[in-house]
Amino acid sequence: MQIKTFTFNPIQENTYVVYDETKECIIIDAGCMFPKEEMLLIDFIEDNDLELKRVINTHLHFDHVFGNAFLADRYGVLPEAHKADEFLIQAMENQPKSFGVPVDIKVQHLKGYLNEGDTIRFGNSELKVINTPGHSPGGICFYSEKDNALFVGDSLFRESIGRTDLIQGDFEALVGGISKKLLILPDDTIVYPGHGDTTTIGHEKKFNPYL
Ligand SMILES: [Zn+2]
Ligand SMILES: [Zn+2]
Repeated sequence: MQIKTFTFNPIQENTYVVYDETKECIIIDAGCMFPKEEMLLIDFIEDNDLELKRVINTHLHFDHVFGNAFLADRYGVLPEAHKADEFLIQAMENQPKSFGVPVDIKVQHLKGYLNEGDTIRFGNSELKVINTPGHSPGGICFYSEKDNALFVGDSLFRESIGRTDLIQGDFEALVGGISKKLLILPDDTIVYPGHGDTTTIGHEKKFNPYL
């Protein structure tokens, strides 16, 4: 499994293109907002002859979904996310303004829902869905045991955790979920967060002040 990271939009959100030797790919949290960012993403897909199979979201805060409508138009692939975050799509138009980002988002509905224990398959690869609500009610992570990779959205960051002061945030739930479901993974699991640098489960166990 190979992972290409883009950092998009004024909120500096990490968008991940995940693919393997079959050339099938998925996109986790398409945050591309500006036309130049959209071009970077499609150039990467096309230069590498990738075939986009799924667009999946760790959660539906606006900075993680800017590119969903664009990808739906361009590739006919609609996003999937946890049902408990779907209300955020309706509220989408107001989200950027509350963060001081003056932009209109094209609202994109979901194709379907992802839930704990689901397996996302593409090529010879698979990712398991782990629910970690608390940063948002429908926050989920994607884990590949085979490739030692964990995509956590805004649940966990290097030496920090996601905000829980946003709508339906829950600090106890977030810390509890991370502790029970993520920290039990192998120490050398590489953690790919929604913002900032990668880390490992072992590093967070040792240095994360919230855990
Ligand atoms: Zn978020
Ligand atoms: Zn974010």
